Amino acid sequence: MRLRTSSSHKEGAERFFSISTKKFIGDEEGNLKGLITSEVEWVTVPGQRPQLKEVEGTEKEWKCELALLALGFTGSENTVAEQLGLEMDNRTNIKASEIDYKTNIPGVFVAGDQRRGQSLIVWAISEGRQAAHHVDKYLMGESALPLKGDGDLPRV
Ligand SMILES: Cc1cc2nc3c(=O)[nH]c(=O)nc-3n(C[C@H](O)[C@H](O)[C@H](O)COP(=O)(O)OP(=O)(O)OC[C@H]3O[C@@H](n4cnc5c(N)ncnc54)[C@H](O)[C@@H]3O)c2cc1C
Repeated sequence: MRLRTSSSHKEGAERFFSISTKKFIGDEEGNLKGLITSEVEWVTVPGQRPQLKEVEGTEKEWKCELALLALGFTGSENTVAEQLGLEMDNRTNIKASEIDYKTNIPGVFVAGDQRRGQSLIVWAISEGRQAAHHVDKYLMGESALPLKGDGDLPRV
């Protein structure tokens, strides 16, 4: 994998990958003074979401006074999905048709981030409008709510 190097990286930052912070170390006044990390590796099991596994014996202590957390999206909250028995994919999104947003449970529709994973507001609006049409049709037998045409967002 090739990573972009910007001018700020060239100022002297050293980047380390595939390490996970296990512990913050504070001084007696509660100020951060260090981190404990371990190396991690991706474990892939077909049909499941890849998991990060700690590599034993790789624990290391680093001096640190400032930690900035940049956390990625790790999937949607799934309580409602589990309560309703909704099928999910291996990225913890709820499975729903891209055509009519129907899930495996009749009368339950899903659109937006919970269906496609973390995305953009334009997609949430687009899917919300599409889903509204199909919910209306499901309830009323037909719908006058607009569906997007070829000129709107492409289906991806
Ligand atoms: C930090 C951050 C920055 C982002 N920046 C951008 C950006 O710059 N541009 C961009 O286009 N997109 C951005 N996004 C993505 C964008 O916000 C999402 O794609 C979009 O909001 C998804 O809309 P949604 O309606 O699918 O879900 P959400 O906006 O997440 O709406 C889901 C709603 O359901 C509610 N909810 C959850 N569980 C329950 C429950 N059990 N009962 C009732 N309500 C419930 C939640 O409170 C929430 O209000 C960003 C996302 C994040 C997290």
